Formats: sequence, C-alpha cells, structure tokens
Amino acid sequence: MIDLLNDDERPLVEAARAFAREQLLDLDRRCDRDETSICTALPQLAQMGFMSLRLPEEYGGLNCRRLLYAAILHELAYASPSVAVTLSVHNMVGQLLLRFGSERVKSELLPGWGRAENHGSFAITEADAGSDPGAGSTMATRDGDEWVINGSKMWITSGREAPWFVVLAQTRRVDDKDGMCMILVDARQDGFERLEIKGKMGIRASETFSLHFTDVRAPLDHLLGAEGDGLKLSLVALDGGRIGIAAQSTGIAQACLDEMISYARQRVQFGQPIAKFQAIQWMIADSAVELAAAKLLIARACAEAEKDAGFTAAAAKAKLYASEMAGRVADRAVQVHGGTGYVNDSRVEQLYRDARVTRIYEGTSEIQRLVIARELLNSKEKS
Ligand SMILES: Cc1cc2nc3c(=O)[nH]c(=O)nc-3n(C[C@H](O)[C@H](O)[C@H](O)COP(=O)(O)OP(=O)(O)OC[C@H]3O[C@@H](n4cnc5c(N)ncnc54)[C@H](O)[C@@H]3O)c2cc1C
Repeated sequence: MIDLLNDDERPLVEAARAFAREQLLDLDRRCDRDETSICTALPQLAQMGFMSLRLPEEYGGLNCRRLLYAAILHELAYASPSVAVTLSVHNMVGQLLLRFGSERVKSELLPGWGRAENHGSFAITEADAGSDPGAGSTMATRDGDEWVINGSKMWITSGREAPWFVVLAQTRRVDDKDGMCMILVDARQDGFERLEIKGKMGIRASETFSLHFTDVRAPLDHLLGAEGDGLKLSLVALDGGRIGIAAQSTGIAQACLDEMISYARQRVQFGQPIAKFQAIQWMIADSAVELAAAKLLIARACAEAEKDAGFTAAAAKAKLYASEMAGRVADRAVQVHGGTGYVNDSRVEQLYRDARVTRIYEGTSEIQRLVIARELLNSKEKS
C-alpha cells in the first residue's frame, strides 16, 4: 500500500510497519494462543497517534487522508489483525462523533480521543439483528433530559474496557426503521453489563463481548445526528469502516504472501526448493496479483470518499474483494506450507483463521454483493 502514497506520507507508514513487526507480532501470537486481549498495546498505539489517525489537528489528530489511514491499518494488520480491527472501529467511532456529535460532545470528548483510556466501540448488532440491524429491539426512551436505554447487543469489538459505545437503538417500536437513533453511551455506570464471547476461530486477541443495558442513561445531546437517523448513520459509518476491514484483509494477505515466499525458498523436496516448482510459483503469482488488485480497489474507494460524494459501492467492492482475496491467499499459504502450515506453531495457520472473519463483520460478503448490485440496478445511467 505504501507505494500508492506520496513521499511525505511514507515515513509514518514505515514507522507503523516497524512498530507492528517489532512490538505487535509476538504479542499477537501470544494473545491468540492464550485468547487474551491485545488492548494492552493501546497506550503505545495512542502514543504514536494511531488512535486519532483521521481526526483533524485541532483535536490532536494526525488528519490522515483515507489512503494513508488504510496504509497504516494494512501495516498493523500484517502483524496483528486484532489490533487493526480494534483501531479501525475506534477511528470509525471518532469520525461519527466528529461528523454527527453535538458541539458539547465534540469539545469535551474529541481532544482526548487519541488517548487509550478513551477507547471507543460501535454497537449495532443484536442476537436477532445482524445483517439487518434495523430489526434491533434495544429501546431508548426519553426521561427528562436523558435517554434511558434497555436491551442487548451482540458481537461487540472492544467490549471489555472501552468506556464509550455508540449504540443503535429504537425510540418508537421494534421494526420501525424511521425511529432508530444512534446514541453515545458512557459505559461507566450501573446497568451496563459486558459478557465476554470466548472461543472465536480467529482474531482471538481482539475483545468480543455481548452488552446488556438495564436503564442505562445518556444525556439527550449524546444523540448523534437527528432522531430517526440511526440506521442511516450506521451505514455511513460502515462505508468508512469497510475500507478499514479491506485494509485489514490486505495486511493479512501480505503477511501470508511473505510467509509463502520465504517458506518456498527454504523448503527442499525432490532435491530442490519447492519455489522451483511451477505449481508453487503460480500460487505465489496469483496471490501477488490479487493482492495488488485489492489494494487498487481500496485506493479507488478512498479516492471516491475524498470527493465527498457517495462511496458506498466503492467501499463495498473493496471490502468484498479484499476479504475474499485474503481467504484465498491464506488458503494458498497453508497449502504451500504443507503439514507445517496445519499446526498452530505456524503463523499461516493463525492468519488463515484470522482472515475468515473479514468476510463476516461490517457486512457479510452477501451483503456487500447486495449493496453493489442494488446501486447498479437502481442507477438510471446505462454504462
Ligand atoms: C468477531 C466479530 C466482531 C464483530 N464486531 C462487531 C462490532 O464491533 N459491532 C457490531 O455492531 N457488530 C459486530 N459484529 C457483528 C457482525 O457485523 C455480524 O456478525 C454480521 O453483520 C452478520 O450478522 P450475523 O452474524 O447475525 O449473521 P446473519 O445476518 O444472521 O447472516 C447469516 C447468513 O445469512 C446471510 N444473509 C443475511 N441476510 C441476507 C440477505 N439479505 N441476502 C443474502 N444473504 C443474507 C449472511 O450473509 C450470512 O451468510 C462482529 C462479529 C464478529 C464475528
């Protein structure tokens, strides 16, 4: 991804690369094995500015354009897909607050958004409302100058200690998509319960929790956007979030490709390195081409997003292709490693598991295809 950037942007990506490979890789391996959180690395990531990558400088952010942001996530994902998703979600929530938060929320919260203790999380999914978040039944009712929230959320990244959650909730009745609101909730209060979801296949170093709200309160001006805009805001956030997951996918695929090349050079069979066999070369070549194509789709989505026009389909294309590509490349990486790739001593075994979720969260592959087809079918222009 770095090759797509301007010269003055590269040092930051190189710093991310060095930090990720030196400080995150082994930690991520240990956290995967023990199923413990990698959020212990957040203070260091915050110190490097990675918790406020996209915020303007007036809020202490690095004000990265989207492609630079994607390139940094790519580097972090290379070493730790779990860190990449954690930061992708946190930065996505920061953007939501910036664009749709009240003046008070912005002035009080955003200057400290880059600090580890202000970690943010995004809670739209429920047990019965996944691909269709508008079917959620978490309720927000007004009580004087506060919202009172009751209900549950499922599969929430950074659920363990994050103090700030943006929560999608109904203000009218279940199944009324026009009554949905997005509300910023401070989790440090009674009635906010978090339960860890254990036993994930991959990204085991990331925190995944179910959340339960019993009369949880938030000030009225913690509403993001207008009442009834909740679903729209969720989708706007996910457009940006999907670029982050696409970058997570290319980071995973790059790591797989590098592992493949290195192993193919040193593993000898039939008296020669397996890299000499055309079958192996083709797996490496196909992976390199697909990875390059995914990076270009990300660059395209970023360019569309910078124009400030709609980039929903472009982000969906990048996320769909990059996540499916990561699955194929990870599969080939295991194949090139033979039996060695099938045990958890081997990094590619973990990358294979880590890659899988990119096709599921922030909209499954089926939902991305639906978004892309819908835009084409609704378009009046013939191409
Ligand atoms: C590790 C992890 C972390 C996550 N982090 C978060 C988070 O931080 N915040 C958050 O809010 N959510 C989070 N999620 C939830 C994630 O976004 C959902 O799992 C995802 O949107 C799919 O929802 P679901 O699991 O309920 O599957 P379902 O929606 O039940 O889908 C099941 C299957 O049906 C298919 N399907 C559903 N509808 C259609 C359709 N219309 N057309 C065709 N096929 C369809 C799906 O593609 C899928 O194959 C996370 C999930 C995981 C696994």
